[in-house]
Amino acid sequence: MKFDSKTPGGLLEDKWSKHIFDIKLVNPSNKRKFEIIVVGTGLAGASAAATLAELGYNIKAFCFQDSPRRAHSIAAQGGINAAKNYQNDGDSVYRLFYDTIKGGDYRSREANVYRLAEVSENIIDQCVAQGVPFAREYGGLLR
Ligand SMILES: Cc1cc2nc3c(=O)[nH]c(=O)nc-3n(C[C@H](O)[C@H](O)[C@H](O)COP(=O)(O)OP(=O)(O)OC[C@H]3O[C@@H](n4cnc5c(N)ncnc54)[C@H](O)[C@@H]3O)c2cc1C
Repeated sequence: MKFDSKTPGGLLEDKWSKHIFDIKLVNPSNKRKFEIIVVGTGLAGASAAATLAELGYNIKAFCFQDSPRRAHSIAAQGGINAAKNYQNDGDSVYRLFYDTIKGGDYRSREANVYRLAEVSENIIDQCVAQGVPFAREYGGLLR
């Protein structure tokens, strides 16, 4: 059986950005006509649910833990912080991409990891705005 990941075609660096650009926009007044089901409430699901709800969509978020906050995400310390390189020790968006591919034993979908790295700084800003604490130095900067 061939597993179809439905990753968009094209060059690695263009796959997701081109796909997103090609998607039709939804008129703000039509957003409330859509019901979106989000399965899982880790950082990905919970932030997607909160963001889409803020945009006006009707959201139903499902999880199977006692509390929606008990996803794997609770264990993360903030490796994605590397993208910001506050410590000026050689981290970067590219290194986040490289390390995530390597850390995934080269089995991760490259295009999706590329997209993660590409928008990593925005992900941090979005999550912080939505209340995710992230690992921090005593001075308050991201660790
Ligand atoms: C121990 C540990 C340490 C980590 N450390 C770091 C770190 O330091 N830095 C870093 O950047 N990343 C780290 N990670 C990775 C990071 O936590 C994950 O990449 C990230 O949290 C994934 O978020 P997610 O929302 O995609 O998935 P998850 O947080 O795993 O959320 C998925 C949710 O979906 C639910 N779910 C699955 N199937 C169903 C279903 N059928 N119905 C309902 N719910 C369902 C799950 O129960 C879960 O709640 C760590 C991970 C672990 C486990």
